[in-house]
Amino acid sequence: MGVTLAVLTSGGDAQGMNPTVRAVVRSALHHGAEVHAVYEGYQGLVDGGDRIRHVAWDDVGYILTRGGTVLGTARSAEFRDRAGRRRAAANLVARGIDRLVVIGGDGSLSGADVLRAEWPSLLAELVGAGELDQETADRHPVLALVGLVGSIDNDMVGTETTIGADSALHRIVEALDAIGSTASSHQRSFVVEVMGRRCGYLALAAALAAGADYVLIPERPPQPGWEDDLCELVRAGRVAGRRNSVVVVAEGAHDSANQPITSAYVRTVLEERLGEDTRVTILGHVQRGGVPSAYDRWMSAILGSAAVEELLAATPETVPPLVGVRGNRVHTVPLHEAVTRTRELADRITARDFDTAQKMRGDGFTEMVQLFESLSRALPDTDRDSSPRSRIAVLNVGGLAPGMNAAARAAVRLGLHRGHTMLGVDGSFRGLVAGDVRELAWGDVSDWTGAGGAELGISRDVPAVEDLYAIGRGLERHGVDGLLIVGGWDAFASAGTLRAERHRYPAFQIPTIVLPATIDNNIPTSEMSVGADTALNHVVSSIDRIRETSAATRRCFVVETMGGYCGYLALMSGLSGGAVRVYLHEEGVTLSRLAADVEQMVDSFAAGQRLFLAVRNERASEMYTSDFLRRIFEQEGRGTFDARQIVLGQTQQGGSPSPFDRILAARLAARAVAWLGDEMAAGSAASAVIGLHEDGVRIVPLQRAEELADREHRRPTDQWWMRLRPTVDMLAARTAAGPGV
Ligand code: ADP
Repeated sequence: MGVTLAVLTSGGDAQGMNPTVRAVVRSALHHGAEVHAVYEGYQGLVDGGDRIRHVAWDDVGYILTRGGTVLGTARSAEFRDRAGRRRAAANLVARGIDRLVVIGGDGSLSGADVLRAEWPSLLAELVGAGELDQETADRHPVLALVGLVGSIDNDMVGTETTIGADSALHRIVEALDAIGSTASSHQRSFVVEVMGRRCGYLALAAALAAGADYVLIPERPPQPGWEDDLCELVRAGRVAGRRNSVVVVAEGAHDSANQPITSAYVRTVLEERLGEDTRVTILGHVQRGGVPSAYDRWMSAILGSAAVEELLAATPETVPPLVGVRGNRVHTVPLHEAVTRTRELADRITARDFDTAQKMRGDGFTEMVQLFESLSRALPDTDRDSSPRSRIAVLNVGGLAPGMNAAARAAVRLGLHRGHTMLGVDGSFRGLVAGDVRELAWGDVSDWTGAGGAELGISRDVPAVEDLYAIGRGLERHGVDGLLIVGGWDAFASAGTLRAERHRYPAFQIPTIVLPATIDNNIPTSEMSVGADTALNHVVSSIDRIRETSAATRRCFVVETMGGYCGYLALMSGLSGGAVRVYLHEEGVTLSRLAADVEQMVDSFAAGQRLFLAVRNERASEMYTSDFLRRIFEQEGRGTFDARQIVLGQTQQGGSPSPFDRILAARLAARAVAWLGDEMAAGSAASAVIGLHEDGVRIVPLQRAEELADREHRRPTDQWWMRLRPTVDMLAARTAAGPGV
């Protein structure tokens, strides 16, 4: 007999639950398992009947773009009682289900763990009551369980991210950007309350991403007298030229005596003490709504399929895992431990042991706390370092990447905070030669965090041999002691040129660091570049719109993404957007592969599909262009459907950076400036690349990064995301009737 599993969503809904359900169902079918969906969470388990239904491949089609959960969720009081769980067990075992994927918060996962622990005794009770025969009970001695965390709060210990948190952050940062602009117009203050009863992640990350002035979170309550501190900060910001001030308050914020701090109280403080015209906005349920972000789609696809693999491999001895995330990878921890530690964290807050609570949130959380404090407090009048080597120049090189401004802003503020003189070079190396270099003050970069484009300008010119003398002169003229080059492959190559020529030009004998900022995401040693997440979100929302048009007619689309020779954007947008085919330069495109694809496409339309979506990287193949693909698809369709080619083009480089890109930019810039400070003090002339690695931000010698580069194709020789390829194929490859959407 085959394996039968069930999936349910429970607790608070979160964007990303639907993509997760889709991945769970399709992976299970791919592995030959039978799948049931449970509707209305645990209440559905207790009720049984048609609340536990078989699901097929197409039942989870077209749900990728929907927020919330199509399976429904409910709080179930009955499931909290053993009698309710006994009915749940009876309903499961009657359908031959003894494997369960639960997608929910810590409450839901605790509930699942209770059901699992009680399973044998519940079945024994059912047998004793004559409601179940012994033979059936013997066939299902244990309930195998896997937990996935669906929660916008990012509040589970044991995983870096939870499904839905990134989308919620998108909603909050969009709101904060909008509030920031109206606040600026009227020179107002805003107090914005965001969700997070026990966890300050959303408030903290949003405050950091949106450049807010102050944040109040449960894990780090302010000290007594904090009202004076807040007022001083807002006043100083005004003096430094800020036209607005924004305070972000987590709904569970409290002071160090655990007395709640309400947004209304913060407003009173600002109004009464500073005479600020202050408004309160409580964001509420908009944070849960809307389309899931690209990250919440691709990560949940990976998590969903990993959960199924865990579940299918489970033996009676298996300790139920929580399938979570660490450094862009699946990371499993024992479910029970994760739930217990999450509870412990809440207890630590109640016991006012805030240091432990913050530590339990993980290093990333502490890093964000420190970063936010430095960025919001680094005022221009901080004591200057008296070190003679202390002038850092920041410049952008290469194509535009959203988040370049956020990187420059963080570098400038943190540099000033450390006592350096921060120089902004307008227009890349050419600007340096022309003398377009200005000293940047704290207030000059105030509104840069959410701005698209590049305030410091940009140029694709990589220094040629004949430019080097003038560049050296430029560095000397402005007394540059350290160089922060923000950009993509051209930035990387420029740093390489300066390094290679430094024996000839003494001016190049200064510490130089590359901060990867490119939508191509192709810089060796950094898993993510600033800008790539924003571009991915752009591509995915374009795909969503394209997908909608197929509601009217049957269509085949070939969507062409940027990326140079690097397939990151193509593969990840294919995974997030539910494409059935992805064409990459890394793999090449062959005629026999195309012939098979055409055949599948024709079959899928014949089987009633309305959409065939292919994503092609712009350089996937010199011969088989997007237009060529479109034409063969159209020709072979023989008039039964339209085939269209959509080249997304430069829009992918524009727009306001995503929350992830803003935070990444700040993290990288902070560490890069600290590194430059140390190297300048040591009189070093080292060159390095900073980047995001599996275990966090790291700095790698430039030479090492060069060894890992495929120069001809301007990409790393090893690309971490290529291992996600099988997941893309699996989720697209509906058996028998051709690909699904
Ligand atoms: P979340 O999963 O978002 O934390 P809740 O804490 O409300 O949401 O839990 C959702 C549901 O999970 C509850 O309505 C209840 O049915 C079930 N549940 C939670 N905790 C337990 C528990 N300790 N024992 C049994 N069921 C529980």
